[in-house]
Amino acid sequence: MRMVDIIEKKRDGRKLDEKEIRFFIEGYTKGTIPDYQASAFCMAILFQGMDREETAILTDAMMHSGEMIDLSSISGIKCDKHSTGGVGDKASLAVGPIVAACGAKLAKLSGRGLGHTGGTLDKLESIPGLTVSLSEEQFIKQVNDIGLAIIGQTAEIDPADKKMYALRDVTGTIPSIPLIASSIMSKKLAAGSDVILLDVKVGDGAFMKTKEDAEKLARAMVDIGTHLGRKVSAVLTDMDEPLGLAVGNALEVKEAIDTLNGKGPRDFRELIRLASAKILLSAGLYKTKEEALIQVEKVIQNGAALEKLCQMVSAQKGDASYIRHPEKFLLAKHIIPIYAKEKGYVAKIDAMEIGLSAMRLGAGRETMEDIIDPSAGILLEKKVGDRVEKGDVLAYAHTNKDGVEEILDDILSCFHLSSISLPEKPIILGEID
Ligand code: URA
Repeated sequence: MRMVDIIEKKRDGRKLDEKEIRFFIEGYTKGTIPDYQASAFCMAILFQGMDREETAILTDAMMHSGEMIDLSSISGIKCDKHSTGGVGDKASLAVGPIVAACGAKLAKLSGRGLGHTGGTLDKLESIPGLTVSLSEEQFIKQVNDIGLAIIGQTAEIDPADKKMYALRDVTGTIPSIPLIASSIMSKKLAAGSDVILLDVKVGDGAFMKTKEDAEKLARAMVDIGTHLGRKVSAVLTDMDEPLGLAVGNALEVKEAIDTLNGKGPRDFRELIRLASAKILLSAGLYKTKEEALIQVEKVIQNGAALEKLCQMVSAQKGDASYIRHPEKFLLAKHIIPIYAKEKGYVAKIDAMEIGLSAMRLGAGRETMEDIIDPSAGILLEKKVGDRVEKGDVLAYAHTNKDGVEEILDDILSCFHLSSISLPEKPIILGEID
């Protein structure tokens, strides 16, 4: 078999067979197929697409390119959650404890933030002492003992995706639905859970800018998972403005704690309730969404979900007193208000720019080598739909850096005001089961 024939076949819009797709993944992972052929192949896929069967085979080949996590020694149904990435997305910090408090087993491997998006591991590491580096045995024991663990990757999972993602990033071949779907799902499937809830973000701060594209991506991922024997469902959620009010690691952990205490911003409260209920439903713990939602509310109101977060933090060697007393988190040296220059109603808050500004204040990385400042970030005071008077505080910038005037101006320009009142934006844009 020759790689050039496979590239030409896809370039001409023809369907690839299983042997051809597996030949590419095996050859590219081993290094016998060079980057220039792989990038031409990814570009051909971007233009010509792949059907359901081709995408499922590609995912399966990628998933088997490295180690697979075996969760079979965890009793019960194992659950996982994945977000396609957004700004202020601290949902796993709340959903994990909620579903575990309701009796599910959440075994989650998470990632780090890069560019405008944050990463759950960085957020967790803002809790003093907490480690996200557990062996596979410790990970499994913790999920068996308390029903919840969120850690970094343990094994060499999906090396094919690692190489392909790095290549796609520099060859303009990220925005292809079959490539994104296979990239995300191959990693999730290799991580071993039976139930997977996908949170597909839609809007300015997300990969998918329109609801239509997000729906296509969600359907592709649900199809792949179902085809490969897992229970996969998805929610489409708004990322035209940041999720909740907090953007930045410790700030987001505090918002998650607040929300597990029954408070928190409306959009975040709604999202974590629905995401948790869908996981519990797929895991078969409840018969209807309404029953699951009642139980979710119960574990928030009676403190069981917050207690579960404390248990996870302690099990991962973190100081759980910070969860009980979030005022213990160190604040940044500068907390700078950003004032409205005119009155109106907030019509839009550029999520991507807010994420990038938070990164420049110290909350994120431009390259994987950068060191994160856990206290840095942005705390919004206004959300879309809110009324604003001239001189009102729109947001606070938290930073230990000096000379951030330019960043403050950029944050101010993220807020677009309108003279007419607008309705609150719904956070949930769709569900796919
Ligand atoms: N996230 C991934 O893991 N892969 C993609 O291709 C896009 C987003």
